[in-house]
Amino acid sequence: MTTASSRAGAGFIFDNSYARDLEGGYAPWQAAQVPTPVLVKLNRELATELGLDADALDGDLGAAIFSGNQAPEGAKPLAQAYAGHQFGGFSPQLGDGRALLLGEVLDRQGRRRDIAFKGSGRTPFSRSGDGKAALGPVLREYLIGEAMYALGIPTTRALAVATTGESVRRDTGALPGAVLTRVAASHIRVGTFQFFASRQEEALLRRLADHVIERHDPALKGQPNPYLGLLQAVSERQAALIARWMGVGFIHGVMNTDNMTVSGETIDYGPCAFMDHYDPSTVFSSIDTGGRYAYSQQPLIARWNLARLAETLLPLLHDDPQSAVDLVMPIIDGFPARYEHFWLAEMRAKLGLEGEEAGDLALAQDFLGSMQGQGVDFTQAFRALASAAKGQPESLRALYLDAQALDAWLPRWQERAVTSNRTLAARAQAMNAVNPAYIPRNHRVEEALDAAVKRGDFTPFERLLAVLQHPFDERPEFSDYAQSAPAEVAVGYRTFCGT
Ligand code: AMP
Ligand code: MG
Repeated sequence: MTTASSRAGAGFIFDNSYARDLEGGYAPWQAAQVPTPVLVKLNRELATELGLDADALDGDLGAAIFSGNQAPEGAKPLAQAYAGHQFGGFSPQLGDGRALLLGEVLDRQGRRRDIAFKGSGRTPFSRSGDGKAALGPVLREYLIGEAMYALGIPTTRALAVATTGESVRRDTGALPGAVLTRVAASHIRVGTFQFFASRQEEALLRRLADHVIERHDPALKGQPNPYLGLLQAVSERQAALIARWMGVGFIHGVMNTDNMTVSGETIDYGPCAFMDHYDPSTVFSSIDTGGRYAYSQQPLIARWNLARLAETLLPLLHDDPQSAVDLVMPIIDGFPARYEHFWLAEMRAKLGLEGEEAGDLALAQDFLGSMQGQGVDFTQAFRALASAAKGQPESLRALYLDAQALDAWLPRWQERAVTSNRTLAARAQAMNAVNPAYIPRNHRVEEALDAAVKRGDFTPFERLLAVLQHPFDERPEFSDYAQSAPAEVAVGYRTFCGT
């Protein structure tokens, strides 16, 4: 039952700018009621960061709110409209088919954060879907999102998971239903711009662009061409983000334009997974049969998606269409160089190189090249490189089937790396602060989800989460979590879309 006192306890103070500014771009909506809500996970640290009362929420009140059964006071739930290119084909209307934006809060640092549900029932954008989510994929999004956060990579975050007591029908059978509560700088995507642009109402599109500038790029206000500045800013954030993904071997798996934020946060952990042995053509998603979203394709796809964003902005940039195109092209064409800039910075840190030298790009590429075809675990190789920095290359060499290419590379790297004044130990320490010991390994993620979904046992989930929350701190009791999957598990590992 909803009473004033139970509502007062949660601490939500909403300020819903999207609902205010962008009428026409959403449908006001309510979450579906669920039979028996149970709060199975609350991110207490994040709740506190958002100014919420974690103690009050960690029980029945949290179960009621985070299952969608009880809207917190001040929430104005809505389903956002968006369009998008999915695997290259345009869908003019996608939108929140199983998600709902509860509202926005200002966190303790004054940052505006969206609080949204995933799996809260059908909306006007559900098409043939049921609007629901299954517990396994919800926990997967929780684990991987929090792992990315701990790695320092911009990402949406998971605030809570509630099971609903319903079962959800999927290809694999009936599964326990759940609702994920997700926090984001905003849920505005390239696909949101595509939806507004496809309405061909320039005023509406302009309102969206102004809203995004106010929210993510306020410094652009009052500049001569703020909308061009917006494209530049989104491009810069995406170049930086993808470089971080590549640095940890993250493969998003479904980089459709509706899954690319303008805030630069990673969003929508569906079929994503981390690369184990180094192979640029790695694909895990069962539906990505053409490898469109393979590891090495990610920077190219980001550029392609930015070109789609640029197209939507053209009417705002110049009255003359050709002049508008001439304005955006340097940004789109400049993306590869910006990406390379961020990637090189990432690789210098990973390789423990101080300063910048002309040969650094080749040095980084050649280290990766040495791993190719050698069955080398990407994460372990960079971690082991810190030992090589201290004169102990054995653990790194042991990762290779044939270490010939590595042996040719190591002296080049040593020569370049000793240009700094750091001690060897300090260099190794700096490398260990950027090269994780622990990533969400596919077999560990599956094991955690399996125990939770099939046996209601959340111990492996909590343990894996504890490992991933401190990815750089090697702890002997967790040494198993740094190991790669047994070969029979790793071969042919597939991930599936759809929460
Ligand atoms: P995704 O590729 O998972 O980001 O989702 C693409 C589109 O499909 C979005 O518009 C989702 O809202 C919609 N969608 C995915 N699963 C469901 C579902 N179970 N019910 C309704 N809509 C869904
Ligand atoms: Mg999506």
